[in-house]
Amino acid sequence: MSLHTPYDPQNIFARIIRGEAPCYKVYEDEDVLAFLDLYPQSPGHTLVIPRRSAAVNLLDLETGALCRLMTVAQRLTRALVEELQPEGVQLAQFNGAAAGQTVFHIHVHLVPRYAGQGLGIHAAQEADPDALQALQARLVRRIAASS
Ligand code: 5GP
Repeated sequence: MSLHTPYDPQNIFARIIRGEAPCYKVYEDEDVLAFLDLYPQSPGHTLVIPRRSAAVNLLDLETGALCRLMTVAQRLTRALVEELQPEGVQLAQFNGAAAGQTVFHIHVHLVPRYAGQGLGIHAAQEADPDALQALQARLVRRIAASS
């Protein structure tokens, strides 16, 4: 997939937005949806996506939607830090297959980083559903209590 590939409305994140595929949702508003990565690179790995933009990557996204996306990314990063107490948080956003993008609906990765723990391989190992559910419950509570 090149940087200029057309948007495919059947991509997995578009299906999640439409409610056609499940996700471990942690936050939503009218512009932005956030859910746990199914193949996390660390505990708490969260994906933040625009809900109303058919944007493959950063080149396509309207400035207003980008601002909303990053505003929510900051809020969720704060909540992740409060709840999970990582020593660091890595934000990542890949554009084009050559850069590592595998799902072609723009998204931001929030990856908590824990001292002494390396980063898991990208999109490689599916997490235990019970662990994801438990994390989801903690994060939903924490995010709801944040402003
Ligand atoms: P990208 O490689 O495009 O930057 O990131 C796509 C991310 O989506 C990967 O981290 C991958 O683990 C995650 N992912 C792929 N399929 C699914 C899915 O069906 N559900 C969820 N929640 N995450 C997914």
